[in-house]
Amino acid sequence: RLEEARGHLRFDRVTFGYASGRTILPSFDLDIPAGQTVALVGTTGAGKSTLAKLLSRFYDPTAGSVTLDGIDLRELDGRDLRRAIVMVTQEAYLFSGTVADNIALGRPDATLDEIKEAARAVGADAFIETLPDGYDTDVNKRGGRVSAGQRQLISFARAFLADPAVLILDEATASLDIPSERMIQDALQTLLADRTAIIIAHRLSTVAIADRVLVMEQGRIVEDDTPDAL
Ligand code: ATP
Ligand code: MG
Repeated sequence: RLEEARGHLRFDRVTFGYASGRTILPSFDLDIPAGQTVALVGTTGAGKSTLAKLLSRFYDPTAGSVTLDGIDLRELDGRDLRRAIVMVTQEAYLFSGTVADNIALGRPDATLDEIKEAARAVGADAFIETLPDGYDTDVNKRGGRVSAGQRQLISFARAFLADPAVLILDEATASLDIPSERMIQDALQTLLADRTAIIIAHRLSTVAIADRVLVMEQGRIVEDDTPDAL
């Protein structure tokens, strides 16, 4: 059992292919020390989202292992895994319910104060307070409509509140206006502090804040360096 994950990730000779198809990852090796922020870039179809899916155990490797703090993900209790590794997807998914409920997904025990603190940390509080019923606004009701950038901030607040050891972020490709873009960048810095993060990055500004940039091509890492060196 995993008491408190530190966030050391390791892919050890991981081979993987989807059921009917070719091999996507051929004997893939990668070691990410606890606390590191990794930007993952590369052409479409390179296998970036596939890596993320193996980390969330949407799929398991055909051969080799993925470990967290030295423990094979397959040996972890499902609840421990979901607590330790959180993925924020491109669609920044919101379910019908209030803004507060949406932020507390994964932390149903959270108090309203904790929810507000998470929103403040990522800079989502300002727009939430302008909504008709504030944190009680139903996100699907009239007047409760939120923009793409605001949806992202809500999902960041959710991740901040969940406080996982490992955060995986599949960065949205949708373009945001400049003020939203800046807010998302600031929120991201806060969110990444003190945890391991893998960001499938589409923005140069995101690559720049990473400790390490991995360039992926056809299921392999072809470059592994600091942002400055690339
Ligand atoms: P993008 O930048 O477009 O998101 P990616 O690097 O995330 O690309 P993956 O989604 O990991 O790429 O896909 C890697 C390969 O696996 C591609 O050839 C893709 O067609 C294939 N693939 C992805 N998901 C599935 C699936 N569910 N079933 C079968 N093949 C898949
Ligand atoms: Mg992808």
